[in-house]
Amino acid sequence: MIPVTTFAGKKVAVFGLGGSGLLTAKALKAGGAHVIAWDDAPLKNEQARAAGIEAANLADIDWSDVAALVLSPGVPLTHPTPHWTVQRAKYENVEVIGDIELFCRERAVHGPACPLVAITGTNGKSTTTALTAHLIKQAGRDAQMGGNIGTPALALEPFAPGRHYVLEVSSYQVDLAPSLKATVGILINVSADHLDRHGTIENYAAIKTLVVAQVEPGGTAVIGVDDRWSREAADRVERAGKKVERISVEGPVRDGYFADGPRIMRASGGKPFPAAQLTGIGSLRGQHNAQNAACAIAACVALGLDLPAIQKGLVSFPGLAHRMQAVGRKQTAAGHILYVNDSKATNADSTSKALSSFHDIFWIAGGKPKAGGIDSLSEFWPRIRKAYLIGEAAEAFAKTLDGKVDHEIDGVLSKAIEAATRDAEASGLKEAVILLSPACASFDQYPNFEVRGQAFADLALALPGVSSLAPR
Ligand code: ADP
Repeated sequence: MIPVTTFAGKKVAVFGLGGSGLLTAKALKAGGAHVIAWDDAPLKNEQARAAGIEAANLADIDWSDVAALVLSPGVPLTHPTPHWTVQRAKYENVEVIGDIELFCRERAVHGPACPLVAITGTNGKSTTTALTAHLIKQAGRDAQMGGNIGTPALALEPFAPGRHYVLEVSSYQVDLAPSLKATVGILINVSADHLDRHGTIENYAAIKTLVVAQVEPGGTAVIGVDDRWSREAADRVERAGKKVERISVEGPVRDGYFADGPRIMRASGGKPFPAAQLTGIGSLRGQHNAQNAACAIAACVALGLDLPAIQKGLVSFPGLAHRMQAVGRKQTAAGHILYVNDSKATNADSTSKALSSFHDIFWIAGGKPKAGGIDSLSEFWPRIRKAYLIGEAAEAFAKTLDGKVDHEIDGVLSKAIEAATRDAEASGLKEAVILLSPACASFDQYPNFEVRGQAFADLALALPGVSSLAPR
């Protein structure tokens, strides 16, 4: 844990004790602050008390000497309306910040020389974060990974010479971290998402842009320029005098990194040369992963890693669980069957990434349906050998596929995986892919997408002749 010393002796209100909240309260207390925490859920307050944290309704406390309100990123700061604690803090002239801000203030005091990579974007944050941390570690350096990806930033190991921090930051967290100044800031992409919380896309893009606009002196802004918002951000940040590396998977860039098929090229002054090769790296299939990989490579080069070390790290990247994760392989007379767990794909847009990354797909789809269904996936129908439909969405998906894609309704995952295996074996394909990419939420049959993905992996590995590919 990183004790928060910058509020030592001061009173700090903490609201929201799920996720990173309780840990933040503990880190503040460990650093000597007087912490008063609260959550709407009584159980969370009990847990805080059990952990030695004072829990009291923030509506009833004396705000006159509160130094800061530390808000959980899940609590509305501005949209649709500011939470009552935020309104109260504003009224009392108390600053409202989040755990990433506390991390940054501690770093400024105790670890200014510790490189910080901050990663944001609408899509690909976790993959890019995990890959960047992996590359740094594989190059023999100390990397701590946290933030939105899971481990709260303040739960990481304290600052020490040579230690690198790689943080995934959501737009909510950026909104609460005015002094986030990274050594390398990465903005992967911007598309309309979370507008319920940020009002307009202009506001959302502006918040995300802070991660790259505020890189510290001598730092680098890595920006994917394949969408209008990020492109404009890159121009603006460059005009402000920061070093910008542009990333594209749609065409060459003059200065930065771009994908040329599975090769990542580095360009300087319009001159490109090969930087890395993604061929054969199963965990980085697809154009979207080329974008993530190019961002991570650019960050690592900016941190001083050399290209051979980066290439070695890319090859050993295990990928993230439940995101196009190859979990099993079965030899067949004609070649092999690959079992791919993409349970995280809970909508058609996410599923499109997986369908575009494979050929000859035996597709397991369905679950709790989302608005819009799977009509938007029609360009991928030719890649699908057959669909195996499960869950509440099965009938509706069958209707969409009728006359276009061969399909059957299996209802449950165990039946679907058996049927898909039977057909994949009989297909005589060199590489048949059995892909769970549901385009649906999991809640009709599973508590969450992780349990659904694990069920798929367990079922696959229980089939005769299937060997494990996943490290975890
Ligand atoms: P995030 O952390 O931003 O949610 P992840 O790395 O967890 O992103 O990836 C989640 C899903 O988003 C993936 O399964 C894939 O469908 C899609 N995705 C990943 N990277 C990208 C990208 N660069 N562009 C668009 N979609 C992406």
